Amino acid sequence: MPIVEWHQVVAADGTYKVSRERFRAELLELHSRGYVPVNLSEMLDKTMDVPTGKTPVLFTFDDASPSQFRYIERNGSLVVDPTSAVGMLLDFIKTHPDWKAKGLFCMLPAAEAGHAFFGDKGIDGQKTEWRLKKVQFLAQQGFELCNHTLWHAKLSKYSDAVVQEQLARGAMAIDSAVPGYKVRGFALPYGLWPKNRALAFNGSWYDKKSKRDVRYHHEAVFEVAGGPARSPFDPEFNPKSLPRVPLQGGTKLSATLDQMDKPGKWARYVSDGNPKTVAKP
Ligand SMILES: [Zn+2]
Repeated sequence: MPIVEWHQVVAADGTYKVSRERFRAELLELHSRGYVPVNLSEMLDKTMDVPTGKTPVLFTFDDASPSQFRYIERNGSLVVDPTSAVGMLLDFIKTHPDWKAKGLFCMLPAAEAGHAFFGDKGIDGQKTEWRLKKVQFLAQQGFELCNHTLWHAKLSKYSDAVVQEQLARGAMAIDSAVPGYKVRGFALPYGLWPKNRALAFNGSWYDKKSKRDVRYHHEAVFEVAGGPARSPFDPEFNPKSLPRVPLQGGTKLSATLDQMDKPGKWARYVSDGNPKTVAKP
């Protein structure tokens, strides 16, 4: 099953960028080729409820840019910008009700250039005080929240202490938006592992402000590339290193989907419609 990965959704394709037209076209292509979005927790818990003949897909959105989720003010209230990725995806679900609001947002709470829970300091018209509201909105809709470090640190070059601070503070920021939220996934910035790989999954950091140890536990770690993932029912499914299909300028979704329609190691997982049984490939 594919775990697709989007970064910025903007005016034109580029590195880490897809155009808005392309984003809409990719949603439509996935829908028309029989894919249904699932959440990470359904994969990890093996509870994906996918109709007969359909294939699950996990959407992942990295870096928390305003291009993914913008608010606009209309008559004093906040409205999701219909030209941001979240706006387009929610509109798509309205017209394709067999899809639910599912997918994973691997977020940065405090990176530069508005990559701080989808925008701050007026960047792209986004107010700093809207950040936590956006994270809460995503969780309320049914999307899931995922760690991507505090400010997109290259974990391979930092000490164990800094790695744990980056991950604990990433998790703590999500908790400050949605108290008690269980962060189960973590996307490696640039696909770079910390020297001590175990710290990608578990660690803690002492928060001087609150005088407590902040712990994190990630069951799933996402790579930046690698092609389709094994279905969770495949013995080779490995949540500790989940490959993804990055979509950006120069890479086409259809190439991966074409390959998955052929027999072989990438053949797509197809559901028999019964969540209690495991389907044949
Ligand atoms: Zn990233």
